[in-house]
Amino acid sequence: MKIKNQAMLITYADSLGHDLKDLKRVLDGPLKDVVGGVHILPFFPSSGDRGFAPMDYTKVEPSFGDWEDIETLSQDFYLMFDFMINHISAQSPYFKDFLAKKDDSAYADLFLRYKNFWPNGEPTQADIDLIYKRKPRAPYRIATFADGSTEKVWCTFDEEQIDLDVTTATTRQFIKDNLIHLAQKGASIIRLDAFAYANKKIGTNCFFVEPDIWEMLEYPKELLDPYGVEILPEIHEHYTIQQKIADQDYYVYDFALPMLVLHALYSGHANRLVHWMEICPRKQFTTLDTHDGIGVVDVKDLLTDEETEMTREALYSQGANVKKIYSTEAYNNLDIYQINCTYYSALGNDDQAYLLARVLQCFAPGIPQIYYVGLLAGENDIALLERTKEGRNINRHYYDLDEISCEVERPVVKALFNLLKFRNTSSAFDGEFAVRAIDDNQLEILWSNKDTETEARLQVDLKAKAFTVTETVKGATQTINF
Ligand code: BGC
Repeated sequence: MKIKNQAMLITYADSLGHDLKDLKRVLDGPLKDVVGGVHILPFFPSSGDRGFAPMDYTKVEPSFGDWEDIETLSQDFYLMFDFMINHISAQSPYFKDFLAKKDDSAYADLFLRYKNFWPNGEPTQADIDLIYKRKPRAPYRIATFADGSTEKVWCTFDEEQIDLDVTTATTRQFIKDNLIHLAQKGASIIRLDAFAYANKKIGTNCFFVEPDIWEMLEYPKELLDPYGVEILPEIHEHYTIQQKIADQDYYVYDFALPMLVLHALYSGHANRLVHWMEICPRKQFTTLDTHDGIGVVDVKDLLTDEETEMTREALYSQGANVKKIYSTEAYNNLDIYQINCTYYSALGNDDQAYLLARVLQCFAPGIPQIYYVGLLAGENDIALLERTKEGRNINRHYYDLDEISCEVERPVVKALFNLLKFRNTSSAFDGEFAVRAIDDNQLEILWSNKDTETEARLQVDLKAKAFTVTETVKGATQTINF
């Protein structure tokens, strides 16, 4: 199925109910018509990072269901699957074979061996300092082979996530086989997870290394084109990088919006948000929340450093049940540029502010993605966070079917569903976009579709946290109440 200009739900296979069959029940039941697409976070057998250490793309984690469940979902929704182009599980058959047979393994050059990569087998301190790292030392882990020998292999993330050498023929074949398999299993779009780490080159920071990275995007694109499957490269970086990727006609994520909307709502100032909406890529998926934290690097130079700091501080002072320590190493948060908090709690569990944030997202250029916790206006899950000491778990609550039945009765959730249904069905959003600041605290967004003579207009007063939505169809205007 082709991507539709309709909201995409982001969820784990076991977050809304226990498995993929429950997910389908929820989508067909309480969520009917609320979303047109689903990003099912990695559903393959995995050895860590909640699915992001995949062992085998040809299998569905049995406790989630099977390929039939995925294919059933693909009949009604456009689906996004993840492909971890940077790494594979330490428990994968490939890495295990490598540990067993070392140089004789058919997969030996799937991995980046320090002894082959660095002159003299080790990076210098200058090399290490240059690398854009997720840990306070060189990115490696020790591989211990069956013959008792050991060596270092590149490992950007967790010990369970072994980096791939994306330059070798073996890895290219691995990428090809798996991407085509995912395309055949019903993906409409494939998210290239953490792709900017994939290319490593001595003398660079090993992150978004140009020009190599462009070829690295071109390869999957060419493989997937014949299947009509798109790619979504995932990167948290300066907005100009998203613009560059969008200029090559790839979909991109709008990861700047979450902080910009928070800034607008905390400060009451419209200018920064309006500026971004004027210049942001059009072919994008907007976010306010995902399974990761709220990105901060993403607003560099869109907010001044002082404004960013003010927004961050306001999140901690006005947010509900959120502490700085949840986004530090104490809670296994190695990406200090992400803040762990649900979006609803970031806005102090305030229904009015939250709904306004979602209205702004639905009117921003791009297709809105909504994370399952956000869809149910979920509060920070401190119990799960403390039980696991994992910062991102603050925003990874497990909902069972009974709980979902209760949550969907809350006025804020009902209003959000109505908003998303409006966003999914008004043809205005297939038209032209225009935004303007009315004054320091107010803004207006207009979508107009000449072909269908339909307009959708949003007027916002950030200070009062008030908004009005109207739709005009063939000259007749009505106010839309959510
Ligand atoms: C994903 C994270 C994950 C990392 C490594 C990302 O950017 O969104 O959840 O931990 O890649 O796979």
